[in-house]
Amino acid sequence: MIILGRQGAGKGTQCVRLSRHYVVPHISTGDMLRASAREGSELGLMAKQIMDDGGLVGDEVMIGLVDERLRKPDADTRGYILDGFPRTVAQAEAIARITSAKPIHIVIDLDVPREIVLERLSSRRVCRDCGTNYTAGPNEQRPWICDVCGGDVQQRADDTPDAVNRRLDLYETQTAPLIDHYSRRGALVVVNGIGHPDNVFKRLTDAVDSRR
Ligand code: ADP
Ligand code: ZN
Repeated sequence: MIILGRQGAGKGTQCVRLSRHYVVPHISTGDMLRASAREGSELGLMAKQIMDDGGLVGDEVMIGLVDERLRKPDADTRGYILDGFPRTVAQAEAIARITSAKPIHIVIDLDVPREIVLERLSSRRVCRDCGTNYTAGPNEQRPWICDVCGGDVQQRADDTPDAVNRRLDLYETQTAPLIDHYSRRGALVVVNGIGHPDNVFKRLTDAVDSRR
């Protein structure tokens, strides 16, 4: 399964829940890149610069990364949830080739309008160790400690207003065309991402279960 949706639509939070519910790995290319950046690998350091200013890492690099990840045994049993990939038409064409033996079942567009994700992103805080998302109050500036793992909870370096706008613009030009692409192939289901996370989760599982 592939999940599309604007930055701040709640893909990360919902994918963690979906991954537990369906007992399949959650493969987030953003998490993979941030992990490489923390390890300080060559790829990680290159990606960190691009991520911090809200750009997109090159298609070739991303396709190689995902191809390698999907060859691991955990992605070859019950399926997987791809979060953050594909993000361009070239990536969508590559994933179709990579998965030709076991094609993608369903593509979900977790739909939240731009005005609402802008509000959500300005208060988003993330644990840098386990990735748990939090919402900061209007005057809450200091970092705090993660309830789940004790790590530092901070604003992501790419959640600054400039980088957020750049990412949302790239979403409209590079990624939104995939909604049409998958819709034409009959694979797309649009799920409303507004509302309490429990309600959004219910809509997502209903959408997935109706296609099984
Ligand atoms: P968001 O959806 O909030 O931008 P992610 O965690 O999915 O956050 O990704 C963070 C950053 O990682 C992106 O802004 C981009 O720089 C890079 N990235 C992740 N996935 C891809 C991809 N498929 N293609 C290109 N760049 C990617
Ligand atoms: Zn944590």
